Amino acid sequence: MDEKQRVWNSVLGEIELNISKPQFNTWIKNTYPISMDESEIVICVPSAFTRDWLENKFNLTILNSIQKITGSVKKVRYVVQNNPKQSSKSIKSVINLKDQELQAQKESITESNNTSNNSQAETNTFTRPKSTGTSLLKDTYTFENFIVGSSNELAHAAAQSVANEPGTRYNPLFIYGGVGLGKTHLIQAIANKLVKNNKNILYVTSDVFISDLMNSLKNGKMEDFKARHRAVDLLIIDDIQFIGGKEATQYEVFNTFNELYAHNKQIVFTSDRPPSAIKTLNDRLKSRFEGGMIVDVAIPEFETRVAILKSKCIQKHFNLDDEIIYVIAERIKSNVRELEGALNKIIARVQLLNTKVTPELVDKLIEGGQIHSQRIVNTDTILNTVAEHFHIKKEDILSKSRKKDIAVPRQIAMYLIREELKLTFPNIGESLGGKDHSTVMHAWNKIKKDLVSNYTLEQDITIIKNKLYNEENPVNS
Ligand code: ADP
Ligand code: MG
Repeated sequence: MDEKQRVWNSVLGEIELNISKPQFNTWIKNTYPISMDESEIVICVPSAFTRDWLENKFNLTILNSIQKITGSVKKVRYVVQNNPKQSSKSIKSVINLKDQELQAQKESITESNNTSNNSQAETNTFTRPKSTGTSLLKDTYTFENFIVGSSNELAHAAAQSVANEPGTRYNPLFIYGGVGLGKTHLIQAIANKLVKNNKNILYVTSDVFISDLMNSLKNGKMEDFKARHRAVDLLIIDDIQFIGGKEATQYEVFNTFNELYAHNKQIVFTSDRPPSAIKTLNDRLKSRFEGGMIVDVAIPEFETRVAILKSKCIQKHFNLDDEIIYVIAERIKSNVRELEGALNKIIARVQLLNTKVTPELVDKLIEGGQIHSQRIVNTDTILNTVAEHFHIKKEDILSKSRKKDIAVPRQIAMYLIREELKLTFPNIGESLGGKDHSTVMHAWNKIKKDLVSNYTLEQDITIIKNKLYNEENPVNS
């Protein structure tokens, strides 16, 4: 046996002590050293997954073990051997391995349910209707209805290219940019077009993806979940920034991604910021995103805003003078959704009162230059949203009931009011039916602490926050 093989065997020995046999067989067994000099050893691995896994999980173990024997080698380089048979096998193995990990996760969730005694509330969390493929698509979100200007032409071109030749050139396609700038419109345009071509598509927002995943884990339906997500020609995950920090979800996105990618299926993501700026996104996923096409949508310039308004008027069969359109486009600059909101407000006013639209009326309707479509979050919206999420009544939260399925949502509401609105503890106590400030403080502390280890709780809070700030959600309007 040569020296490099001896070194690598010792590494394998160390790793074997640390992981289960199936894991070892999946990841490690088919690796071997190709070369070694004083400073570097080069290892051949069967797939990029193995490389990532070794780098991410075992970097230290491997380096320590090598140093012990050679004293000099400081670097390990992995070379992925391109063997299609092998790599499809290793994708299978990834899935199997994932099953084990998810099983472990499921057990830990069940465990935390038992200890928190909150099974009622937590079960209810996941009874929301699931997205089925195309049900979330708006048929007005088409390429024909999308106005192209310099702020979005690259994103538009990439989206069109993906719609014409899915799974080929721009995979994954990652579109990012601020709120209301047309990301969802563009990706749904891709979906709408491909649906027409009888492609199998799945469009989900990341909170739907998360709750679907949790639901499937809890009910032992992971096979079903995987089948649904992996049998598609096009998978779109909208607002992927919300999966930052959620390890199990990222892991599943990663696996789904790899599986689809390996079969030349198209994947599209949107986010409010580029992958590099999603703080808690793990590096593997980041590098997957960065391996594709990343484009942004920016704030549209005046001409584009005018063109958008004209196009919306045509869609709504409403005639507005150019003069008026210019006034609106001058006043609202940074968000197409607000632009459309302003137009809707003007149309509604005109139709209701049968008045003529004047620049003065427009000015009055767009007070201070802004139509706030961002939802205003206050104590009431938080209470309503939490109550809705847990399928209880707002009055329950205000009550003195100590039942777990009410007490826990109440604590979550207290926590959110503190975090989102920065109210004082006595204030919060007051607005929750006269609770003592120490009760509120205790709730806040408890949720804050539990969030670190209770994955289900974290998901609940993410979903509630999403609902809170999602203006299309009618909870409190
Ligand atoms: P985002 O997902 O970036 O927050 P959306 O795609 O939901 O934004 O866009 C908000 C609204 O603005 C939608 O009604 C969409 O149709 C409209 N919109 C945005 N950009 C354009 C555009 N370039 N042309 C036509 N409509 C647009
Ligand atoms: Mg969107």
